[in-house]
Amino acid sequence: MKIVIVGSGLAGVTVAEALAKSARHEVTLVTAETHGYYSRPRLSHGFALSDEAAAKILMKRFDAFPASVRIRAGIEAWLIHREKRHLVLENGEVLGYDVLILATGSASRIPGGLAAFRPDFHTLNSLDDLLTLRRRHARARGRGKTPRWAVVGGGLIGCEVASDLHRAGDSVTIFHRETRLIELQLNAEQSQALHGHFAELGVEVRYGQDLNELPRPYDEVIVATGFAPRTELAKEAGLATARGIVANEFLRTEDPAIYAVGDVCEVGSRLYPFVSPIRSQALWLAEHLEGRAQTGWTPPPFTPVIKIHDFKVPAASAIS
Ligand SMILES: Cc1cc2nc3c(=O)[nH]c(=O)nc-3n(C[C@H](O)[C@H](O)[C@H](O)COP(=O)(O)OP(=O)(O)OC[C@H]3O[C@@H](n4cnc5c(N)ncnc54)[C@H](O)[C@@H]3O)c2cc1C
Repeated sequence: MKIVIVGSGLAGVTVAEALAKSARHEVTLVTAETHGYYSRPRLSHGFALSDEAAAKILMKRFDAFPASVRIRAGIEAWLIHREKRHLVLENGEVLGYDVLILATGSASRIPGGLAAFRPDFHTLNSLDDLLTLRRRHARARGRGKTPRWAVVGGGLIGCEVASDLHRAGDSVTIFHRETRLIELQLNAEQSQALHGHFAELGVEVRYGQDLNELPRPYDEVIVATGFAPRTELAKEAGLATARGIVANEFLRTEDPAIYAVGDVCEVGSRLYPFVSPIRSQALWLAEHLEGRAQTGWTPPPFTPVIKIHDFKVPAASAIS
């Protein structure tokens, strides 16, 4: 079969590498990325690292992939012609497929009130984002200044970023819309413990901050207010989308030739935007396409890991 995968994050790469093992299919991976495959979870701890350690976030350059996976890197997939089973790339190139896998992941979600200020703040969603932020950090340090950062969003990623910027020696203030930190994954007692940890370090947290303009005066602002699955390709092709691309338990969209996997895939009205369920989806999908998995994908039990330096989530209460 001709299998075309869009996206080279955890989802797309895991499917591609699993399919490459059998070498029974013609696999093409299309990606907008240029560096290679990298660990997204490590991005939020990418500030305090030496240049040498930060370089290890890039786990595999595209030229190190098995020859049986054809890689089209640094290019966007623009259009799906479902009747012809064609994927059109931004340069007009057309890739025919028997099976198309959408592993397009997610972008940073920007609150409406801040959208107008987009050129003036950063997000942390890709290796390029991290490299830009590291350059800003180094430049301020080079001028003999301690950079002052505002992190908008006190959820999982905002708190991880704040913790790492502090470790890098910078000054950090968190602006959070809610009344407690990481409210989606922590209970009230655990949020309080995290607040106490940040207070001891001198990381200020301001609550109830539903911002309509950027906080001042700070050298740099990072907005970390959630993620938005990249559903555009599917939507324009007339496939059902909700928060993500709607798929059944076989990760199949309403078009039997098109599957979705990873952050972008919504199964049973749920998204699974974490490493463990995504790896499980991707390996299951490769098995399914090899004709070995006949029953649908079921989510594995998993607990999101919270990566705050020197902070252990108190065990007494359960993480939802
Ligand atoms: C800072 C940060 C920290 C995180 N920490 C953790 C953690 O500790 N634990 C955990 O479980 N999860 C964590 N996550 C979440 C986890 O990293 C993601 O759920 C996972 O990486 C998603 O993988 P994916 O392959 O679905 O999508 P992505 O990694 O988003 O990959 C999608 C790829 O598709 C490409 N693409 C999109 N559209 C197109 C197009 N039209 N044409 C070509 N290419 C396209 C993009 O360039 C990208 O390479 C973190 C996420 C972030 C951002």
